[in-house]
Amino acid sequence: MSEVPAHVTLREVGPRDGLQNEPPVPTAQKIELLDALAETGVGEIEAVSYVNPRAIPQMADAGEVWAGIARAKGVLYSALVPNMVGARRALEEGFSSIEAVVSASRTHNLRNINRTPEESLDAIGEVIAEAHARGASCQVIVATAFGCPYEGEVPEAQVVGYARRAVELGADSVCFGDTTGMGTPPRVRRLVGGFRDACPEIQLGLHFHDTRGTGMANLVAALEMGVDRFDASVGGLGGCPYAPGASGNIATEEAVYLLQEYGVETGVDLDLMIEVAGLAQHIVGRELPSGLLKAGPRTRLAV
Ligand code: ZN
Repeated sequence: MSEVPAHVTLREVGPRDGLQNEPPVPTAQKIELLDALAETGVGEIEAVSYVNPRAIPQMADAGEVWAGIARAKGVLYSALVPNMVGARRALEEGFSSIEAVVSASRTHNLRNINRTPEESLDAIGEVIAEAHARGASCQVIVATAFGCPYEGEVPEAQVVGYARRAVELGADSVCFGDTTGMGTPPRVRRLVGGFRDACPEIQLGLHFHDTRGTGMANLVAALEMGVDRFDASVGGLGGCPYAPGASGNIATEEAVYLLQEYGVETGVDLDLMIEVAGLAQHIVGRELPSGLLKAGPRTRLAV
């Protein structure tokens, strides 16, 4: 417990990771959601991704969304980019923080983008260089870091190896993504420990999905190892691309609530975040999985 950090940075990924796994939402409602999230005090927001609109129509209006939002001071906005074309667009449109993704599972990477992870990392090296040349930072997200829907187990040494390669290529930070919610606390401890041994100087973030009910347990396991950066999605917006109907990202307000109980500061106003979860639920028109959205914080008294 002694390593629990005093402050945790949450990156809100609902507008990108969440909405990318929901039926398409009108641009104006995305802007409304992003601006409402910026008011909650959350430190970082993954706003959009610059992907092929034929492949992912949910993000076809990324440029309009980015042009339309208030861009609050004190919020670091980021864009996810699949390749150099997307990276150049994001950087030209003014993003100072981008994320590139490689899957630690060879099969997952091949099935998604028809490249081996090694080939992806070579391309990511060029994306990182481009970001740095323009004064921006680039995070490398290592997806399927806790397991793969095609391969099952993904060895931790393999995950750490790709992360280390990303760092050698200049990645400013690394994030391990639990793409399909296969992580558990013992696996979190092993992977975080392995990464720390390999890359002790590099900032690490974790991206958990609650697909199998272990999302918050995973967060606590990492928190107790001193990890101070987590992704979360307001309301638990989003889903699992490989399991229709399954839940996706951990809910931001649930993370804020739990972190508060540990005395950890996030900067987020919990009541406001629950309100925004209500807005997110209204926008997608389906019941979102967040427990706090249904029950409220523990201090909400019955009347
Ligand atoms: Zn996710």
